[in-house]
Amino acid sequence: MANTPKRKKNKVLKIVTKNHIWVNIVLCLIIAFATVVFVSLFTDAFSDYILDTKFVDEYEKVEYMAKLYDLNADNNSENVYSLLSEEGREYFITDNLGNVIYQYGENTMGKNSGYIQMPVSQTEVKKIKIYMDSKADDLFVMDDEGNMKPQPLGLLGFAFDLSEQDIDKVNVNKTTISVPMWMSFDVKGGKQVFYCKTFFRLSLSDGVFWISFILVGFALVTCIIVLMLVNMINTLVNQKRLSKVFFTDPITRGHNWMWFSFRGEQLLKKRRSAKESYAVLDLVFVKFRNYCVCHSVIEGEEMLYRVDRIVKDSLNKKELSAHYSSANFALLLRFKDREELKARILEIIDKLERIDKDHKFTFHVGVYVVENRKNAKGKPVRRKNIDIEREYNNACTARSTLEECDDSGIAFFDENLVEEQKWIDAVMERRRSAIENEEYIVYYQPKYDPKTNKLRGVEALIRWNSPDFGFKGPGSFIPILEKNGFIQDIDHYMITHVARDQKAWLDAGYECVPASVNVSRAHFIEDDLAEQIRDAVDAEGCPRNLLEIELTESAFFDDKKAMIDTILKLKEYGFMVSMDDFGSGYSSLNSLKDMPLDILKLDAEFFRGDTNGGRGEIVITEAIALAKSLNMLTVAEGVEFKEQVEFLASKGCDMIQGYFFAKPMPKEEYADKMNRKEGFEEKEETTISGEEPSEEKTVE
Ligand code: C2E
Ligand code: CA
Ligand code: CA
Repeated sequence: MANTPKRKKNKVLKIVTKNHIWVNIVLCLIIAFATVVFVSLFTDAFSDYILDTKFVDEYEKVEYMAKLYDLNADNNSENVYSLLSEEGREYFITDNLGNVIYQYGENTMGKNSGYIQMPVSQTEVKKIKIYMDSKADDLFVMDDEGNMKPQPLGLLGFAFDLSEQDIDKVNVNKTTISVPMWMSFDVKGGKQVFYCKTFFRLSLSDGVFWISFILVGFALVTCIIVLMLVNMINTLVNQKRLSKVFFTDPITRGHNWMWFSFRGEQLLKKRRSAKESYAVLDLVFVKFRNYCVCHSVIEGEEMLYRVDRIVKDSLNKKELSAHYSSANFALLLRFKDREELKARILEIIDKLERIDKDHKFTFHVGVYVVENRKNAKGKPVRRKNIDIEREYNNACTARSTLEECDDSGIAFFDENLVEEQKWIDAVMERRRSAIENEEYIVYYQPKYDPKTNKLRGVEALIRWNSPDFGFKGPGSFIPILEKNGFIQDIDHYMITHVARDQKAWLDAGYECVPASVNVSRAHFIEDDLAEQIRDAVDAEGCPRNLLEIELTESAFFDDKKAMIDTILKLKEYGFMVSMDDFGSGYSSLNSLKDMPLDILKLDAEFFRGDTNGGRGEIVITEAIALAKSLNMLTVAEGVEFKEQVEFLASKGCDMIQGYFFAKPMPKEEYADKMNRKEGFEEKEETTISGEEPSEEKTVE
């Protein structure tokens, strides 16, 4: 089923690219052949008719003469000869050896002879031998069986010559064509042969009709062939036009994807191409949309046209390029080794970057190297299952890894990218059902006061307990959801669940501490974010001061004013707001200056490597002092060692969140770490001093 769109596309391609001219040629030949057969059958039938009707009379007359001679006794022959002469026809008699016994008039018998089938009655057909007269020797032709057939055109010519030739005294009327010929009859019991001149008379109108019919038939065949030829040329021109429209990109006026996929597959499947290495490329004009917004769509399209030209001009023989869609171009390049290919792509990118002297554009290129197949002897064999769409898609996948990159670059495809892509797809596909089925779980990581070792806060961290993939940490799915704009649902889910947990713990007599929830940068764009959070927390009946909102530093890059407004509103509604991962970005100090925040969370990176003595300690000391002077609390994240805790305590850090105290844990485990008010089940005060960190469930 997955192949259906491809099959449909191939069908359309077949219609456009198929050589329809062959159908026309075959049709033309069939019709021409049928017409020729029809005309010749008719001519045949007509000539038979003419022979039949015109000869019977003559035959009877000559037969009468032969009978007259035959019936006469030998001694009265002179009388017979004079009687026969009265008939006015030339004749002669031979013995059976061919010696002439008697001759009246001139013997003008020609060389050609043959038979005529003549119906003498309803049922009987007589085969009569005919000898051509020497003056009309070629007017009849013989078929394979020796039957004579008149030649219409020859007869016509003969008729027009009549006026100059005095060959026919019987021809009194110029409207009759009279062709002299001879007939023979065996007489005297087969001992003699009686030859007599006779005439094949055809009225001129019959002849003209006959010839006209043949000419019309001939013209008809010619017309049909000419029409077919015109139709063929028309089809060719139309097909060319159709394929031009079908394969042309309306924006770049160059080739489009249809053409690329069709020609690309053809090229890669060729026997000669099997020896060469090929790569399918996806080239993208980064921030093309921005260019269109800042200038105009028309100018943007003009830019695409120029990109298409430059790419096309950079191609060698047996290489292709086409505009795919929007800012993407597909290329098929030949190469010997990857370094050479890389250098060529860089050269193309270099030309493209300088396409406009007022701008420097960025281009990303994804490369998929098409496999070279070899047989058992190591010889290259023709590629078979070429699917250029899949290969281009792989090039796109490779290119998408450059998305965060601001400079031009090249990325080659490798199989791991497919796995990554599949995972992204799985996360996106299951995001709704995971919320509905409560597959997302809230883990809690406590924050402790390093001086008193008392619990002062907690951070809620998400986990995904997927029935298909097992237990997953946020790093494997949160960035995917963030990137694809689905993090709002997660943030809302977490706020609701944390508020619900806090309310339940309050009701159960626990001494709850503020729980911080991460709110993504993407979510902060919404105008009514503060109201959404307020309503969600209120709906669960949780006091607002038990919820804290953590904003990552990267969120501060967006609309500053909107950001400040939201923070102010959140504070006004009674929530605390903290800056997460302070120190991991570049404009931390700037953000601190403008944002009215309550808590500063020092990024875990501060505590990686050696913090003893060196510059790291100075920075941490100053950051804590800065926060204090701005009236902010400080939380140090990712603290794993006792020395770090002691150092932070000495510098006045308010809270520590790290494996030294506790790892993120399920809510039941976290509940055990909270104190309970009098009247509820008494528990020991939670104080921890360098105990073994609780083991978090293995997160993949
Ligand atoms: P984050 O907000 O900076 O969370 C702190 C991360 O550091 C947590 O990782 C925590 O397990 C880890 N951590 C804490 N102490 C230590 C330590 O001593 N050593 C080490 N090596 N790591 C420590 P986690 O839970 O994997 O979360 C990773 C990131 O995922 C979070 O970073 C946050 O950006 C994001 N995230 C987690 N939960 C949510 C959520 O509910 N919503 C949103 N939008 N993002 C979340
Ligand atoms: Ca956080
Ligand atoms: Ca953090």
